[in-house]
Amino acid sequence: MFEIKVLFVTSEIAPLIKTGGLADVSGALPVALREIDIDVRVLIPGYPKVMAQLGPNEVVARFLEIPGFPPSRLIFSIMESGVPLLVLDCPSLYARDGGPYADANGNDWVDNSIRFGLLSKVAAILGSEESPLSWQPDLVHGNDWQTGLTGAYLSVAKGAVPNVVTIHNLAFQGNFPPKNVQLLHLPPQSFQPDGMEFYGNMSFLKAGIFYAYHITTVSPNYAREIQGEALGFGLQGLLHARRNDVTGILNGIDTDEWNPETDKHLPHHFSVAKMSGKALNKQALQSRMGLDINPEVPLLGVVSRLTHQKGLDLLLEIAQSLLDLPVQLVILGSGEPQMQNTANELALRYPGKVAAMIGFDEGLSHLIEAGIDLFIMPSRFEPCGLNQFYSQRYGTPPIVHSTGGLADSVVDCTPDTLKNGTASGFVFSGMTTENLYTTIVRAIDLYRDQRKWKALRKNCMSKDFTWKTSALAYRDVYLKVLGRTEYE
Ligand code: ADP
Repeated sequence: MFEIKVLFVTSEIAPLIKTGGLADVSGALPVALREIDIDVRVLIPGYPKVMAQLGPNEVVARFLEIPGFPPSRLIFSIMESGVPLLVLDCPSLYARDGGPYADANGNDWVDNSIRFGLLSKVAAILGSEESPLSWQPDLVHGNDWQTGLTGAYLSVAKGAVPNVVTIHNLAFQGNFPPKNVQLLHLPPQSFQPDGMEFYGNMSFLKAGIFYAYHITTVSPNYAREIQGEALGFGLQGLLHARRNDVTGILNGIDTDEWNPETDKHLPHHFSVAKMSGKALNKQALQSRMGLDINPEVPLLGVVSRLTHQKGLDLLLEIAQSLLDLPVQLVILGSGEPQMQNTANELALRYPGKVAAMIGFDEGLSHLIEAGIDLFIMPSRFEPCGLNQFYSQRYGTPPIVHSTGGLADSVVDCTPDTLKNGTASGFVFSGMTTENLYTTIVRAIDLYRDQRKWKALRKNCMSKDFTWKTSALAYRDVYLKVLGRTEYE
């Protein structure tokens, strides 16, 4: 029997619509929460991709007159994972070609404040007396800036339930000109430093943090980091002031989607007990990407947005010296044009040794995780990160910068950690090309020692990455916010 009812609000959800890690979390966490008796229902905008993939559905509400917003309606459906979905259908805001946040050229939709203002507003309506639904949540759980105004709307709603906000990346804040306060019919008193005012603009994320009963973020280390100047993106003061209400909960992963024994994207399956399939995937990857077929050479890989945050400029800078070594490199990613060009140029200059695929390719990302030997993730900051989990699960030790969730989820390989069975990758501190280079060389050295290498791979693959632990931690937050110590 369900004990807590939660409206989970998100701007993307796998497998329906995905631009990054938020979609993975939104697809998997509600499933894990439902398994521990929390009745989670997900509210998501009705982008074309979402509408096109809906199973049997029914219209459950029509919002004809929300001041400041075009008419919209709510459609109820159930995802394949079993999670109930409330789709906010508003064709004038969401029915467009392009991504959830930007058009096909990467330019943000000019009316994003209205698009995600409506999402926040409807979340608040569903969490108040005004809700047209018979199902009423005990709390609203929003994610990132796109849901940030929910708490501000709830603060003036009748019969409002409490709300929680999860920060997946503080760098994206949803800051807009102040006229939006009026346009979005927000309480005028909310536009002040003790509210949503942020350096003269109105900020969705600041509102989210200010008005939430509790704030979570996606790793304990990142929860600490965002309270300091270096990674606080201007919100460190507020986050520090609210530190007793900030909790870091490490993400899990979808262990069905990312299972080397059953992964539908892999030509060969493997497990910790039977690793031969991994070598065959390496061969398949080399062949597909036009790399020399060579089982011995250490194959390094990247799957990432190609942005400053991900630190891949460092890798591209050292690529030439790295490629003097007997290694291969495969890059899958898209993002900043300059990084894309450099990756393409490397592939042209080193045929058979470097392969680059610019774009987003879910299937290939699985084959890369399975087929490579070392995954490279030198993020400057990383709230949680997912690929370091995927690679560990696929017996591919990650090389990571010691930041955010990477520091919480990868244990550096040293003689001690290898001996006590905790080593699960290679971690470097200090974001310099030299540190990255020496760490890659250290990893390659270990790769040459097959006995140690196998022990390291086994550690990686034996770790528990399920959502269960995280779901229990979210339940604790919900109980705290609801003022309950245990189920009543
Ligand atoms: P972020 O959300 O900051 O982009 P995460 O590591 O948390 O980074 O999650 C990124 C997710 O997107 C992972 O599931 C990763 O595999 C996927 N991903 C990123 N770039 C690509 C790409 N070019 N092709 C396929 N999947 C990608």
